[in-house]
Amino acid sequence: MTTRTGPQTYPGASQAHRYQGKFGGDDMEVNVVVLHTTEGRTLPDYGGGASAPTLTCVPDFAARRLKWWQHFDIDTSARALLNLAGGVETNTNNVCQLEMVGTCDPATRAKWLKAGLVQDKDFIYWPQAPDWALRDVAEFLAWMHTKHSVPLSGPSKWPAYPTSYANGGGQRMNDAAWNAFRGVCGHMHVDENSHGDPGALDFAKLLAFAKEAAGAPSTPVVEAKYEPFPGAAWFRKNPRSAIVTALGKRLVAVGCSAYEDGPGPQWTEADRKSYARWQRKLGYTGAAADGWPGATSWAALKVPNV
Ligand SMILES: [Zn+2]
Repeated sequence: MTTRTGPQTYPGASQAHRYQGKFGGDDMEVNVVVLHTTEGRTLPDYGGGASAPTLTCVPDFAARRLKWWQHFDIDTSARALLNLAGGVETNTNNVCQLEMVGTCDPATRAKWLKAGLVQDKDFIYWPQAPDWALRDVAEFLAWMHTKHSVPLSGPSKWPAYPTSYANGGGQRMNDAAWNAFRGVCGHMHVDENSHGDPGALDFAKLLAFAKEAAGAPSTPVVEAKYEPFPGAAWFRKNPRSAIVTALGKRLVAVGCSAYEDGPGPQWTEADRKSYARWQRKLGYTGAAADGWPGATSWAALKVPNV
């Protein structure tokens, strides 16, 4: 199908780094969005455009927005996917590709932190992307849904990098699944490719934001009520409660897990150690980061109502 329908430029995207004339591929009618992470901190050059995606979004931390750059028309094939001779088509299989500037690799994150860079200030670690960044990507997906009929759905498995490399998480589509696929997926899902980006993206949240932006009824992720702080003394009584499980799940989600197994309902030393990591992440030190929950850090963690 080579009919191009719908708008070809994303509103607000800079067109200053276009490679359409030089490297633009086939006309197509897009029905898939593939998400990548660049594993860098700035807009890549993409070899002068030879390996460019359709768009790149670069975090503007001061504005808490993403800056968008468009490299090809929406309904023109881009160049960021590996396509083997023979086999299925990848770039040209009705795919629009988005490179998100930042990393999905915990090792890169650790290296950047060690170099003195600050997460959410100097770089985005996409598995823990701040809501403003996810919402900006979601807005683009909503636009692709409204203007180009890309379904707001996709694979259920988003394994963490580096497990996601090759097919370590069992997430990659085979020929038949790839040819039949419509919706939003990651580079880690694309047939014939081995890259593991964008890792453990919070895809459920991204889709919920996108559905909200598209005006469709969504699961109430955003309006979710949060569990009120049970009080500092409550934790000292070694409680066994669904609240502790919900707390533990949130600590895992924000990358503060010190759990060997669990989390579970019984408050344990692993919960306290995980919570201490959360406090340190918020900038607390000393006794303020001893792992015993306080009202402010609790509110910031947004533990869902149990
Ligand atoms: Zn990629």
